[in-house]
Amino acid sequence: MPLIKCYECEKEISDKALSCPHCGAPATSEPKEEEPTIELNKKDNIAPKTNEASKGGEAFSVIFTSLFILIVIVIFIRSCSGSDDKVKPATSEVDAPADVTVTDAQKIAAKELISANGYTCDSIDGMNRFFTSEGYHVYCNDHRYNYDIENKGGNWIVSVK
Ligand SMILES: [Zn+2]
Repeated sequence: MPLIKCYECEKEISDKALSCPHCGAPATSEPKEEEPTIELNKKDNIAPKTNEASKGGEAFSVIFTSLFILIVIVIFIRSCSGSDDKVKPATSEVDAPADVTVTDAQKIAAKELISANGYTCDSIDGMNRFFTSEGYHVYCNDHRYNYDIENKGGNWIVSVK
């Protein structure tokens, strides 16, 4: 009967003893070695179960992956067509200046320009941009005074309508 050292008290005991007769520690180092194998066995037992359980999960992940790829493709196509859309309004702005809103700063500048030319414009009722050239129709004082202001070679010309 081969003797081994107890892992607790380090006294020699039988390798077949279930527990150390000296200190009562359970069965030398064998249980220590068995425990991991039991754990491994448990893992092996669990592993197929999780595999079976994850089969549904795998199906889901496949669906999600393909959905994700689809979304990426859709976003990619949209970003491509989106860039086209961004180009189109830019050109249409040039084609149709009427779409361009007149800013308050432009209104103030127009009012100052009209006043500077000796015309009356206490309030601007409306301002439309010219279609063909750089200029505006300006409506002042409850539409009583209508002016055209136009950029002619860098000089803004005011004319009464
Ligand atoms: Zn012992």
